[in-house]
Amino acid sequence: MESTEKIEKPESEWRAELDPNRYAVLRQGATEPAFSGKLYRNKADGTYTCGACGAELFRSDEKYESGSGWPSFTAPLAAGTVELIEDRSHGMIRTEVRCARCHSHLGHVFDDGPGPAGERYCINSLALDFAPEADKA
Ligand SMILES: [Zn+2]
Repeated sequence: MESTEKIEKPESEWRAELDPNRYAVLRQGATEPAFSGKLYRNKADGTYTCGACGAELFRSDEKYESGSGWPSFTAPLAAGTVELIEDRSHGMIRTEVRCARCHSHLGHVFDDGPGPAGERYCINSLALDFAPEADKA
C-alpha cells in the first residue's frame, strides 16, 4: 500500500479519535513509563504502524532488546517513514522521531544502537500498533 500523502487534522479531531494515553504521547510528546508498554516485549514477526494514522513505520526485523524499557529498533522500515526533529526540551538536546505522514510523536533516536548505523530508535509502545505477519504458506 503506497501512502505518502500527509495527514493534517485539527488537534480536536485527534483528541476525539485517540485514547487519552495515546493522545498524550502521539500529539503532546509524552513518554510512557519504561517497561509499561504492551509491545515492549513483543517478539512476533510483523510490522509496527503509527498509532495515529496507521502508516507502516518499523519492522520486527529491526526490533531488538535494548534493556531500556521501550520498544527499540535499529532503523525505520524505510527512509522517509519517520521524520527527525531536534528536541531541546527538558534541558537536553535529543532527536525526536515523528511519523512522517501525520507528524505524531513516536519517541527519540539515540546514537548508541548496535547496528551498523549505530542508531537506537526508542519508541513508545503507546505510539505504535502491531500487525502480525500473515501466515507464510
Ligand atoms: Zn502517523
